[in-house]
Amino acid sequence: METSAIRQRYFDYNATTPVAPEVLEVMLPYLKDSWGNPSSVYAFGHDTAKVIVEARESVAELVGASPGEIVFTSCGTESINTALWSGLKSDPSRRHVLMSAVEHPANLSLATTLEAAGYRVTILPVLQSGLIDLNVVEAAIQPDTALLSIMWANNETGVVMPVEELGSICRRQGILFHCDAVQAVGKVPIDVSAAGVDYLSLSGHKIYAPKGVGALYVREKAPFTPLIAGGGQEGGRRAGTQNVAYIAAIGMAARLSSASFESEARRLAPLRDRLETACMETWGALRNGDAKARVANTANLSFEGLESEALLLLLERAGICASSGSACSTGSIEPSHVLTAMGCSRSRALGSVRISLGRGTLASDIDYILDVLPGIIDRLQGLAPSRS
Ligand code: PLP
Repeated sequence: METSAIRQRYFDYNATTPVAPEVLEVMLPYLKDSWGNPSSVYAFGHDTAKVIVEARESVAELVGASPGEIVFTSCGTESINTALWSGLKSDPSRRHVLMSAVEHPANLSLATTLEAAGYRVTILPVLQSGLIDLNVVEAAIQPDTALLSIMWANNETGVVMPVEELGSICRRQGILFHCDAVQAVGKVPIDVSAAGVDYLSLSGHKIYAPKGVGALYVREKAPFTPLIAGGGQEGGRRAGTQNVAYIAAIGMAARLSSASFESEARRLAPLRDRLETACMETWGALRNGDAKARVANTANLSFEGLESEALLLLLERAGICASSGSACSTGSIEPSHVLTAMGCSRSRALGSVRISLGRGTLASDIDYILDVLPGIIDRLQGLAPSRS
């Protein structure tokens, strides 16, 4: 990534990913020459309809679904909203919803909206590891519980939830199951049938497609009500003329992810571990999140006593993009709700940094960050004289 005199090294792939060259290439014809409406009857629109069919097949394949179970949306947030409201509108007598305390704001902030609409929402606590306790989930289910909404992988810590076990609980208890897989897709294998999910949300910009496109898996027999009504597109499930170029993009991104996610995880895990071990051994940094049940690309480390905002600023001056907490809460000095829910002290949470790796991360990038960190940490600890 070359944006200025100093080479930028990007360590924030959980916030967003660059558009892959193959993805850009597949999109461009639909922005230049093949701009017909996919719903039109004449041949000029047929190309665009065809690419949508192919993209639907590719996204379905990535998560083990049938193409007819995939609905294209504008983003992960829209997918999550659609899933939750679909599940709730199907049975008005069920007024209770479960979600975990570590959900992304795209999900968690819906709790307030739902409560205002007369639903009861139970926010389930998590363990220190960031994992959910299955007994807690089971015990929280009430006779009128409609739905459990929980993420597959956490955006801040990378912790992977026990999705299959959660799916079994939901099936046994007769409640619907929505899973936010935005941070899991392209990082771990996903099989919607084995997971027993009714709805699964995904987002293009975490898998090297552009921002502004997402998808929702809806199990064939799961209840569905469109969030955006007013047209027959997407089989009547999401109105609005389809964003053909972006749908082509997420289709190609899904194909690339299917082909490379396993080898990419094998490549990234040792890079992440090298960085993590060095920080833990040299500065006593604490790892936030389970050491085993997690995606390969994410390290969340607390440098207790240091302020992550200051650390990030100095990292940025050294050309390193990283983040603290979720990217959506950047700018806020409140500790991360995820780390707080995991029982981290305020100072541990305020000293945490998320470093997330991706396709562009090289071993030399890890060398670089480990080269610059000692100077930055010395300076923050007041050991090195300030030069500016
Ligand atoms: N869910 C998780 C876990 C995320 O990390 C994000 C984005 O950061 C979203 C949902 C929202 O996705 P989008 O930005 O496509 O709306």
